[in-house]
Amino acid sequence: MIIALYPGSFDPITNGHIDIATRASKLFDKIVIGIFATPEKNLMFSLDERVKLAKEATGHLSKVEVKPYSNITVEFAREVKAQVLVRGLRAIGDFEWEFEMAMMNQMLYPGLETVCFMASQEYQFLSASLIKEVASLGGDIHSLVPKGVAEALIKKGLTRKKSE
Ligand code: ADP
Repeated sequence: MIIALYPGSFDPITNGHIDIATRASKLFDKIVIGIFATPEKNLMFSLDERVKLAKEATGHLSKVEVKPYSNITVEFAREVKAQVLVRGLRAIGDFEWEFEMAMMNQMLYPGLETVCFMASQEYQFLSASLIKEVASLGGDIHSLVPKGVAEALIKKGLTRKKSE
């Protein structure tokens, strides 16, 4: 049984993340979406909110589980017995950072394989930080995030209801 850990901050989960989890679940037996408690980022959503939104958005994916974690990613990978670390690569900007992280993780946990999925064309330019920025300026982000995330952004006063 191949267990894959898909770690990140998921602040909030977007359709780009869900696309990666969906594609990974075709290759692996179980995908754990690991939501890191304290990334070095300005967070919009609390850990509980990020977990709840990710659980709601992946409820239809039977192989996907969502779990919060606060230790180093490789330790969490050991805890959940993951042999694979899943990451997504967008065309511009992701490669160097992902490469660096993969080298470091390989040193810290030899045998844990990082598998990067190329972002699908329609999500190449989608990032959680851009969603937050566009939403806060009143842009319509409904086609880029799961329904629950759009509702959560509306609740925070960050975006408008879907334009008719
Ligand atoms: P981090 O805080 O580690 O960057 P994120 O939650 O932003 O984590 O993203 C987790 C993973 O998902 C990363 O590998 C990131 O490159 C990938 N990812 C983010 N957005 C997309 C997208 N639109 N398409 C494909 N992969 C993505």
